Amino acid sequence: MSTWFVSDLHLDPATPEIAERFLRFLEGPVQGAASLYLLGDVFEAWLGDDDPEPAHRDVIAALAAVTARGTLLYLMHGNRDFLLGERFCAETGATLLDDPVIATIGGKRVLLSHGDGLCVDDGAYQRLRALVRDPDVRRGFAALPLASRRRLASQARAGSREHLAGAGEYITDVNQAAVETLMREAGVRTMIHGHTHRPAMHRFDVDGDQCTRIVLGAWHATASVLYWDCAGYRLQPCPV
Ligand code: MN
Repeated sequence: MSTWFVSDLHLDPATPEIAERFLRFLEGPVQGAASLYLLGDVFEAWLGDDDPEPAHRDVIAALAAVTARGTLLYLMHGNRDFLLGERFCAETGATLLDDPVIATIGGKRVLLSHGDGLCVDDGAYQRLRALVRDPDVRRGFAALPLASRRRLASQARAGSREHLAGAGEYITDVNQAAVETLMREAGVRTMIHGHTHRPAMHRFDVDGDQCTRIVLGAWHATASVLYWDCAGYRLQPCPV
């Protein structure tokens, strides 16, 4: 019984080599796995499940093949692809997860999150996050014609690049106190997230308990994947 975790692929028709590698990963290493967790920002932008973009259709078909082979597929929204919806889940066989959520991996409770909610030092980002998570805002966006959604998404990405360029390193990382509070409240010793593009396994104590925070990396940089089997967790570059 094995489980894979990935996040931050930022799949984009402009960088087809990343999607090709992801499809090789799905058809190879993921075969026979019990489950695959996609922890957000699988897509650089998701304008809505009605977007006919052919590159995205290929990914949907490959994910559907994964679930058809019996691997359980779990999906969490990232800050880029938070409009992934019911139709995407129906087409791929994925189950949409809340953020954060507690999963049971190898009999142990593990906290899963995309990770952007923990970057609380970035006030401007958190205000934006609250806005785009508003159901009325989402409904309004989804009701716009595809061309308008595409234009708005591209403006949002430009704004995000500008913001990141001007923000300090620590501001765009998770806040350790927020991590510890969340882990304490959830009663877990292991947490897995992405978003920050800083792949690592951090070990620290919370109330005398040894805790681990595993951070997935971005595919354009390291193509990091996290593998779990009875021997434990292994954070590694995508093997194919
Ligand atoms: Mn993200």
